[in-house]
Amino acid sequence: MSTAKLSPSQNHQLLVKQTKPSMAFDPAQDFTTWQKKLRVQLKRLLGVMPTVRVPLKPKTLWEQEHELGSIQKVCFASEPGADVLAYVCLPKDIKPPYNFVICLQGHSTGMHNSIGVQLDDETKPMKVEGDRDFAIGCMKRGYAALCIEQRAFGYRAEKCQTMRSNQTCHDAAMHALMLGRTLAGERVWDVDRGIDYLKERGDCVMSNIGILGNSGGGSITTLATATLPKRIAYAMPSCSTCTYAQSIMSIYHCADNYIPNMLNFAESGDVVGLIAPRPLVIVAGRTDDIFPLPGVRKAFKQVKAIYKAAGAEQNLKLVIGEGGHRFYAEPAWKALLKLV
Ligand SMILES: [Zn+2]
Repeated sequence: MSTAKLSPSQNHQLLVKQTKPSMAFDPAQDFTTWQKKLRVQLKRLLGVMPTVRVPLKPKTLWEQEHELGSIQKVCFASEPGADVLAYVCLPKDIKPPYNFVICLQGHSTGMHNSIGVQLDDETKPMKVEGDRDFAIGCMKRGYAALCIEQRAFGYRAEKCQTMRSNQTCHDAAMHALMLGRTLAGERVWDVDRGIDYLKERGDCVMSNIGILGNSGGGSITTLATATLPKRIAYAMPSCSTCTYAQSIMSIYHCADNYIPNMLNFAESGDVVGLIAPRPLVIVAGRTDDIFPLPGVRKAFKQVKAIYKAAGAEQNLKLVIGEGGHRFYAEPAWKALLKLV
């Protein structure tokens, strides 16, 4: 029995090694044709989303002044059964229309981290670890921010979850799969609707919307930018770019990271390459133990080859922070502001 192959995961590891993604970028291919085809495929893999955009019916829940500007909490409809909560942060002394950055938290207590206030009392400030106060970083630099509460995080955490787990995504991620959807695809849809909301507000420079996020927010930053080429102008995903083989296929990750059939078509670097030629700053942590640096470098090599084929190498930057799984605001923004 000692040689019997009893581990399903060992079998999967073998299959990961043997699988050649059929739509991986190859420099011998025409960049534009490749990108168009993989983008269509990625949208399919992300699952079935509504064909109708319901009226947003936005509501402002509160508005408060901040030393860096003003913050509104808003709610708008994403699809018939799902509303989105968000903060709209407008920088002081800047006249509209604003340059907006969409900010996405990963697995955390939610979007309240983006504005540095407490979850239960948004009038009270809170110290935020790992530079995750994304909207504060935006306002400091004269940018407006739209902080979206992602499905299954923060105020939208799954309330009827039966598993005893600190992951609030499990039920939502599994149920989405049964419906031919993915939780990732649903989160990308919310970003798309968030951009509809910015358009309806009328105070956004629609041709210059950026997006950033860490971890689970970084993954959606990448997927949204990859699939919405006309809506998102630049991206800064943090601690989420790494080969699938060296991250979600070999280290425990939340179910929301998994997209059925993905590896048969593309690896992470190919998906990130769908952002080319737009400005892209990839942020990583040197000691990030769930998106390890060797996997980051391997994925980045592929992204770089794609940017080169697009004639846009100058629009790509890798920033490695001296620490773990978190955002690195200073070096990341320094790199981004040279590109946008
Ligand atoms: Zn999750």
